[in-house]
Amino acid sequence: MQTYKIAAIPADGIGPEVIAAGLQALEALERREGTFKLDVTHFDWGSDYYKRTGMMMPADGTAQLKPFDAIFFGAVGAPDVPDHITLWGLRLPICQGFDQYANVRPTRILPGIQSPLSGVGPGDLDWVIVRENSEGEYSGHGGRAHRGLPEEVGTEVAIFTRVGVTRIMRYAFRLAQARPRKFLTVVTKSNAQRHGMVMWDEIAAEVALEFPDVTWDKMLVDAMTVRMTLKPRSLDTIVATNLHADILSDLAGALAGSLGVAPTANIDPERRFPSMFEPIHGSAFDITGKGIANPVATFWTAAQMLEHLGESKAAARLMHAVEAVTGAGVRTPDVGGTATTKEVTEAVCEAIRGSN
Ligand code: ATP
Ligand code: MG
Repeated sequence: MQTYKIAAIPADGIGPEVIAAGLQALEALERREGTFKLDVTHFDWGSDYYKRTGMMMPADGTAQLKPFDAIFFGAVGAPDVPDHITLWGLRLPICQGFDQYANVRPTRILPGIQSPLSGVGPGDLDWVIVRENSEGEYSGHGGRAHRGLPEEVGTEVAIFTRVGVTRIMRYAFRLAQARPRKFLTVVTKSNAQRHGMVMWDEIAAEVALEFPDVTWDKMLVDAMTVRMTLKPRSLDTIVATNLHADILSDLAGALAGSLGVAPTANIDPERRFPSMFEPIHGSAFDITGKGIANPVATFWTAAQMLEHLGESKAAARLMHAVEAVTGAGVRTPDVGGTATTKEVTEAVCEAIRGSN
């Protein structure tokens, strides 16, 4: 029997609530399948750990995580700890340390969940957004000159490398190829940004030659927001830069009904290091401790994790269970229901046990 070592980092706010729910569903799957085991180790890193130790995780944190097969991550952020500490102290060092350069965000309207777009339901919106996760606009390069003076200048340098763009493009084409429609949309802003963005377009055309069976087109990011909203059926797989995909995937999450259902995977496609799976949403302190956090995004990212580990059958079983439960109206308040986290989780576990 295959055993996978999973590092669970629930962290802040509703993180521990949704990770507990996710682990409960994973345990039900483990029992239902009977073909694999998950060996889960918990790490208490995050904002409370920071308040005790002055660090979000120990100095050798990434070294501790390295032997794991996958990282199951909750959320970071606390009202009384600055964002740059929570983000740069835990999530980003893991993404960067493990070169998780492909951020993969599936978006679909689940049964029973209402899109704000009228007449758009399950089947009409089925996308995967691939976000470049290691460079681009979030490179951290730039600076401030003449601070506080009238002539002050701030620069924010987007860095695109041939290696970085080629590898994310290949990942996106390969993903598009594996999906039924074999269709990829490459997003840039190459009309206004004349260097790195033009290079994106050129590299896309080069990589496309390696995938003759994939149809692809190009969109400017501004026009892309309109296409996503008005013609959701015209899109399938999407690849964009760190900044553009960050914005587009928030839009995608909203169009699919709620942030509470949107999952993400931070993948090292070369599998040199563990990949990290998390809900897109943050720590949501406004609902922390109330028992109403939507666990669906975490179930979905757990399915992404199983898929990455090679357990496709279990991943599909989990998503079928989630869809049966949302479709039956067992939903948390953020998606128009009255159920608690616990009720949704128990319904999903029950659907897993009862599935054939
Ligand atoms: P961050 O600063 O990391 O973005 P946040 O605390 O601003 O975190 P978000 O995750 O961005 O929270 O979510 C914004 C709001 O959406 C939350 O305040 C919450 O009301 C709602 N929300 C987010 N995730 C969920 C969820 N899983 N279930 C229910 N509501 C959610
Ligand atoms: Mg937020």
